[in-house]
Amino acid sequence: MDQLTFETLSFQEKEDVLQVTLLNLFTTNIPLNEMPEFNLINPNTIETNEKPFSLLLTRHLNNLTNNLTKNKATYVHQNSGLPLIGNVSFGITYRNTSLIEIKTVTSCNLNCLYCSISEGIESKKHDYVVEKDYLIDELKKLLRFVQEPIEIHIGVQGEPFLYADTIPLIEDLQNMEQVHTISINTNATLLTKEIIDQLAINNKLRYNFSLDAINPEVAKKMSGVNNYNLNHVLEMIRYATEKSNVLIAPVCVFGYNDQEMEKIIEFTKSLPKKVPLGIQNFLNYKTGRNPAKAKPWSEFFAWIKELEDKHQISLKVTKEDFNIKDTKLLPKPFQVDDIITAIIKSSDRFPHSSIAVAKERCISIPDCEFKQDKQVKIKITRDKHNIFTGRVIK
Ligand code: SF4
Repeated sequence: MDQLTFETLSFQEKEDVLQVTLLNLFTTNIPLNEMPEFNLINPNTIETNEKPFSLLLTRHLNNLTNNLTKNKATYVHQNSGLPLIGNVSFGITYRNTSLIEIKTVTSCNLNCLYCSISEGIESKKHDYVVEKDYLIDELKKLLRFVQEPIEIHIGVQGEPFLYADTIPLIEDLQNMEQVHTISINTNATLLTKEIIDQLAINNKLRYNFSLDAINPEVAKKMSGVNNYNLNHVLEMIRYATEKSNVLIAPVCVFGYNDQEMEKIIEFTKSLPKKVPLGIQNFLNYKTGRNPAKAKPWSEFFAWIKELEDKHQISLKVTKEDFNIKDTKLLPKPFQVDDIITAIIKSSDRFPHSSIAVAKERCISIPDCEFKQDKQVKIKITRDKHNIFTGRVIK
């Protein structure tokens, strides 16, 4: 027998299955009657016959469930056949600027009542989790192409600290010379002082905190979960301010938390360091939760101006504040109206939709049932920034 140790997988023997957990969040079960002889040495180490076990594992990792939501999930790894460019939910989004967005996971531990992507513990969408080393390798290729100093923005559809490899990922990014800034959107609930300390090296990291209220009842209502720990969130924001760069970015939903904004201003002013505060206007999205109607921009800006004058603070954060520049255009392998042949490789985020792959790009196909490795003829309907959508044609 071979002794196999895994960093990202853990094993637990249950009644009639070997439960395999990927990155602490996604699970699959291998029936014991399919397993070759094995011994669990510890949760990450198994003694077994490597070849048949690897085949079994590969097959069962195609059948992952998110433990938080019970949604089905796809593991996007080096050998999954899924490129990291082309889909808006996972991988790498390059909009021809010096800010490159990376998305490691889809999932959230909150359920904010205004969430623009309806993410959270009640989400009923397909999820993704990306192998860290695959992401880093593909990012390095893109950085070699771009040849400019870059900000990497970790802006996942959900909470990035649910992804167990977020800390090593940030450490890898901190070591990349071309990366001058790493920004991460987080709700702060899963942060600890130890994590903040560990990531507080070389001044590249900036936390973009969502903080929607100071009153605990309002904060709980905004978060959509009963166990929202506001005190912990405030403590983590305060601690992070001492150790790294911080931006506070509340979403103001009029009729729900507009009364909280002045309290958030006071809280921000009380932090040990001056940090930018950018109040965002809640907007209505087709795919989001829409508890209220968006405030017209003119009214919103007039209201912001009043608050700015009253509290002598800037409450707007713009692209210019982050010095984002235009960079080289990444060629698109196909364009709107092209007809191409592609292979279906995964379910897409919404029910009855799939992701097909061609020329190292993912293409989302709505209204197309998932059928692994089926060849389809597609007419491209969207190509902006190498994010592709298509329609199956006969
Ligand atoms: S923390 Fe962000 S991703 Fe999660 S539910 Fe709230 S708004 Fe959505």
